[in-house]
Amino acid sequence: MSDLARRSVLVIGAGGLGGPVALTLAAAGVGRLVLVDDDAIETSNLNRQPLFTEKDVGQRKAAAAAQRLRRLHPGLEVEALDRRFDDASAIELARSVDLLVDGSDNFATKFLASDAAVATGRMLVHGGVLRYTAQLFTVAPGVAGCLRCLFEAAPPPGSVPTCAQAGVLGPLAGTAGSLMAQEALRLLAGERGAYAGRLLIYDARTARARFVPVRKRADCLGCEGGRRVGVAAEPVPAGGGGAA
Ligand SMILES: [Zn+2]
Repeated sequence: MSDLARRSVLVIGAGGLGGPVALTLAAAGVGRLVLVDDDAIETSNLNRQPLFTEKDVGQRKAAAAAQRLRRLHPGLEVEALDRRFDDASAIELARSVDLLVDGSDNFATKFLASDAAVATGRMLVHGGVLRYTAQLFTVAPGVAGCLRCLFEAAPPPGSVPTCAQAGVLGPLAGTAGSLMAQEALRLLAGERGAYAGRLLIYDARTARARFVPVRKRADCLGCEGGRRVGVAAEPVPAGGGGAA
């Protein structure tokens, strides 16, 4: 059994980012994927969610994605959770895997994923897309800063348009999902993450990418250890996903 076949990844959101991530990780030989998503498939998703076809519209995303992945990769262990990644489940889910990948579509989930990663010592590959812009960042507990070092807190609800309101350039989700999966594979291989300590911003209109350095803030509530998810920080596991 290859080393990757023994590794497990939690994919938060099974849509435009989570779909390409799961597809790539399964093809690369990751042994176990846990998909968590509480949405149903809509026609408007199909421009950027390659796991689904028109026949799947109306089906639950996590279950439909898992079914498709099993068909493509019969050796893959894949668990579909038709629920929200929330306060009640975040820590347990994070502990159950080696690595977290966040392809969710809302700030509350993104900050919770970062807090859960810090609280459990798991690495997290964060990704987001809106209109023509993608952002990637790796939360590396104990090594580099978390999402709260970067943004401190989620913007008030309604102050930033959602993907559904602003739209997403279809192919950009695939690009970002592929970059996220590559980062996940680097981390699973024990390498330092390309986006640990720096945010990648990619603009699909100009095909330009730039990095913004992210310093670990001394007073960061997230880095103080899962305060918002109500648990004490756990030590980073030996090897730690390998960002050292
Ligand atoms: Zn932090």
